Amino acid sequence: MDKIYVTSPSLPPFDEYVAEIGSLWTSGVLTHQGPKYKELEDKVCGYLGVDYAALFANGHLALEGALWATCGDEGGEIITTPYTFASTTQAIVHMGFTPVFCDIDKRTMTIDVNKITDLISPKTKGILGVHVYGLPCDVDGIARIAEEHGLAVVYDAAHAFGERLRGKGVGRFGDVSMFSFHATKVFNTVEGGGLTFADDTLYRKLCAWRQFGSYESEAVDCVGTNAKMTEMHACMGLCNLRHMSEFIAARKQAFERYQEALRGLYGVTTISYPADLEPNYAYYPVLFNPEECGCTRDEVADALEAEGIFGRKYFYPLTSSFGCYRNKFAIQETPVAERISNEILCLPLYSGLSLEDVDRVTDVLLRRLGRK
Ligand SMILES: *Cc1c(COP(=O)(O)O)cnc(C)c1O
Repeated sequence: MDKIYVTSPSLPPFDEYVAEIGSLWTSGVLTHQGPKYKELEDKVCGYLGVDYAALFANGHLALEGALWATCGDEGGEIITTPYTFASTTQAIVHMGFTPVFCDIDKRTMTIDVNKITDLISPKTKGILGVHVYGLPCDVDGIARIAEEHGLAVVYDAAHAFGERLRGKGVGRFGDVSMFSFHATKVFNTVEGGGLTFADDTLYRKLCAWRQFGSYESEAVDCVGTNAKMTEMHACMGLCNLRHMSEFIAARKQAFERYQEALRGLYGVTTISYPADLEPNYAYYPVLFNPEECGCTRDEVADALEAEGIFGRKYFYPLTSSFGCYRNKFAIQETPVAERISNEILCLPLYSGLSLEDVDRVTDVLLRRLGRK
């Protein structure tokens, strides 16, 4: 039986990509904000419905740039959550900040706004919220707290490409939002990432940071890095962007098939999008409450693996428990995040997943739960 993995990249037709990169052989421009880069930047701006975008070699470096541009380079504390991909916390630490871990809301799995204020100290520079699985943070609650205390707001929107919240591009909330264009994401440039923002002064600043500290001049005004997106990667983005509506429609079909089979089972919680969100169907996370559904997340994962189906414990473990941080931070109690990380399993979901494969996954799952 064929194996089913948690994800598989969305790709444009091969010939379309070959045609797109053809001009690079005549222009000789392979990187450095070339014409393909510029075209993609414009199109991503339009697709996301934002004022400005700057594109990077990957989402992680983009997030580091966002923290640097909004929270400075003198350290301080960033309030964030441990229920996320390693990148979020690593970006904070790598840029010289100290993460202060806030618990998450059990329904949205994003930062619990009722618990942020107690964590604010004179050292706090900003709030870094994650739109987990494309479920938006409480953006109004966060904006209120940030304004009151003069804090920057950065969103890790790696999962939220193309989403609209109340009709507005999700990248319009906060000071800067980061989108990942990694191969496993809803939109990919193989590796890549982007920042979106409304403050036009950030554009030059970020372009300089991305390119050793200097942009369109000889002056080197900041300690930067090399995080440029190449023309080859931009070409992949231009091709994939043309197919976004097909990719998302295919994901939606698989998503709805899962919901029909799994929604409403006792002890099993499936994702529910808020009514004011236009989602992108990036993930299919499921929570298994062992007291109620009769088996642990690990037992469910093992039963699937025995049938060649590979989900992902995403996010487990919490980033605050990583070996590299042991004893380094005063880690706040985050019991909700802890419980969810022990119950979570993301089931396979990608644009090339057939409905038959979804049925294969749900059959194994329902049998393991004794519901079939
Ligand atoms: C993928 C991801 C990132 C990092 O993006 P890359 O493009 O892989 O560097 C950061 N945060 C979250 C939540 C992610 O899922």
